[in-house]
Amino acid sequence: MRPFDYIRAEAQSDATRAGAEGATIIAGGTNLLDLMKLEVMAPDKVVDITRLDLGEIGEARDGGLRIGALVTNSDLAADMRVRKNYPALSSALLAGASGQLRNKATTGGNLLQRTRCYYFYDTDQPCNKRAPGSGCGAIGGASRLHAILGVSENCIASHPSDMAVAMRMLGASVEIESEDGETRVVDLAEFYVLPGEDPSVETVLKPGDLITHVILPAPRAGRQTYRKVRDRASYAFAMVSVAGRVSVQDGRITEAALAFGGIGSQPWRDGHVEEMLVGEEPSTALFAKAADALLADAVTQDGNAFKVPLTKRTLIATLKDLTAEIAQ
Ligand SMILES: Cc1cc2nc3c(=O)[nH]c(=O)nc-3n(C[C@H](O)[C@H](O)[C@H](O)COP(=O)(O)OP(=O)(O)OC[C@H]3O[C@@H](n4cnc5c(N)ncnc54)[C@H](O)[C@@H]3O)c2cc1C
Repeated sequence: MRPFDYIRAEAQSDATRAGAEGATIIAGGTNLLDLMKLEVMAPDKVVDITRLDLGEIGEARDGGLRIGALVTNSDLAADMRVRKNYPALSSALLAGASGQLRNKATTGGNLLQRTRCYYFYDTDQPCNKRAPGSGCGAIGGASRLHAILGVSENCIASHPSDMAVAMRMLGASVEIESEDGETRVVDLAEFYVLPGEDPSVETVLKPGDLITHVILPAPRAGRQTYRKVRDRASYAFAMVSVAGRVSVQDGRITEAALAFGGIGSQPWRDGHVEEMLVGEEPSTALFAKAADALLADAVTQDGNAFKVPLTKRTLIATLKDLTAEIAQ
């Protein structure tokens, strides 16, 4: 690991100022420290934000929740309001990492964890995300973990977070403080950017920006779930995951929200697929049609083409669960 300076932020302005001057924020450190040890990231300076007063889960004005960026993944998963009103989020958190990691991992850090692409982690390999312009080893290489939606010819890395998939499905937004002290709120739908020409740019954050909270909108009707398919039963990243909420009345779907992990360059949501379900009677045929629409633009490699049928089966199974007594 390369030597670096360490600063401890006592106020949010310490963190935003240090960030604007080039320091990298460290929260739980469960991702950043690994990347520093491997020299995938080599900041000259880190600013520790763990003393900031961002560890509470408060009620938002509209009846939703305002989650401090330093709330740990364990505490968020265990919060009774989350378990009762946002069970897909609680399940997604518990499907991620291990108990020890979740005790350290924070809400802000989880949103910003970097991809698990093997080529990103190996500094001997080309990777446009780590070293812009060096190429993409995963295209035509090992791609089992990689994305099939929202990819570019420069990068097929998938976003690894389970929590962010559930938050995307729930319509969460991110509260950000910038160096000038201004606060802005960005819908998670606008927060991540597609890899495009420069995959090293992953979000709309600018130097000096600090995530202070994540806001969940007021709970909505319907059944929720999070289904994660992975190589091992625990302690593994998603091959495919689905966070879903579906409301059914008088035998017809009245609302549907779906987000996907493991297949997108960012937590993936496709409004068109949700619209296809609304107003319809639940059925396997309908769910299969929705899955085909979701996957119509999939770009696959030899190593990840299996995700097309796997996603289809996973989505059908998830929607059957969510509409249990009704689907045939
Ligand atoms: C072995 C292992 C298995 C894992 N398995 C899973 C899994 O199955 N599913 C899953 O979803 N995750 C998994 N994870 C990832 C884990 O969830 C993340 O490492 C963790 O959530 C990151 O949070 P942190 O607070 O430790 O972030 P840090 O490592 O401290 O930071 C991560 C990034 O976020 C930035 N950052 C942190 N907080 C802020 C903030 N408030 N504002 C602005 N920038 C900020 C940092 O600068 C850094 O770039 C796994 C990790 C490990 C090590």
